[in-house]
Amino acid sequence: MKALVYTQPLEVQLLERPEPELVDGEVVLRIDAVGICGSDMHAYHGHDPRRKPGLVLGHEFCGTVVRSSVGSHAPGVRVTGNPLITCGECDYCVQGRNNLCSRRTMVGMTRPGAFAQYMSIPASSLVDIPQDMPAVHAALTEPAATALHAINMSLKAMARPLPENRTLVIGGGAIGMLAALLLKDYGARGTVLAEVNPLRRRSAEQHAGVTTYDPREAAPEENGFDYVIDAVGSKLTRAAALSAVKPGGVVMHIGLQEWASEIDMRKLTLAEITLMGTYTYTTADLRATVKLLQQGAFGDLSWVHSVPLAAGAQAFADLDSGSLASSKVVLVP
Ligand SMILES: [Zn+2]
Ligand SMILES: [Zn+2]
Repeated sequence: MKALVYTQPLEVQLLERPEPELVDGEVVLRIDAVGICGSDMHAYHGHDPRRKPGLVLGHEFCGTVVRSSVGSHAPGVRVTGNPLITCGECDYCVQGRNNLCSRRTMVGMTRPGAFAQYMSIPASSLVDIPQDMPAVHAALTEPAATALHAINMSLKAMARPLPENRTLVIGGGAIGMLAALLLKDYGARGTVLAEVNPLRRRSAEQHAGVTTYDPREAAPEENGFDYVIDAVGSKLTRAAALSAVKPGGVVMHIGLQEWASEIDMRKLTLAEITLMGTYTYTTADLRATVKLLQQGAFGDLSWVHSVPLAAGAQAFADLDSGSLASSKVVLVP
């Protein structure tokens, strides 16, 4: 089969790889669509020690079962899946918080990913989709669930209902964009989005109805927002988020471009700021996201850019150079 292999920093190559064998408890999927994630780009830049050259990346997939070792998913069934392979037994798993599973592994990181014609995955990780759902839309389940999980967590910390909050989203990548779209569906008004790429700013304005600004030219209004989402996670964006949030407000930290920074603990303390971190999604979030995508909660998704898997190397280069208006590229094997 053909697979897009991460060969060295700043290089992915379409190579011939053996098809996966059917393993007990797993299914082999023919991949119908697979999104390029920010974390795949992070690996591409050589910044992820867990994703080493020789690995097939990709974990935002939709596929069709071609071989199955379980009764629940017969050949021909179309699915998406949870790329976090969880144990189902630890305290977090039994609490339904399986994103925190202490024994989790991951597709496209600890095992071959979905930038390929075929991929094997445990049947327990599959998430069902409506059989008529477009593959490119179903492949957005994973990043959309990341936005959903983060927003749903923040809602619990807000003093007032979301439509009464003024929201700032920092970063117009796929997570920032999907968050802005879901916020709109949840009733948020007057959302502002910060993004350095003018093509992405225009795309966010058009599709998510936000107003945008270039954070290199202006700082966000100090104490101007009840709710701030940092979908970048750099030292600069964390400082901007803490400055922009109003006393009593909520900062949700999703992106993780840089690990450490100084936080304005004086403001955090005296102004009762809630600063929250979030990681991925639970299986319940993935299921809820499939329904919301199908119902149009994330809009018509016409901003998503899809190209053949064979053009994957170019897609990585285009995402790297910022020449695309779309923050999400989906590869179609
Ligand atoms: Zn992802
Ligand atoms: Zn577990």
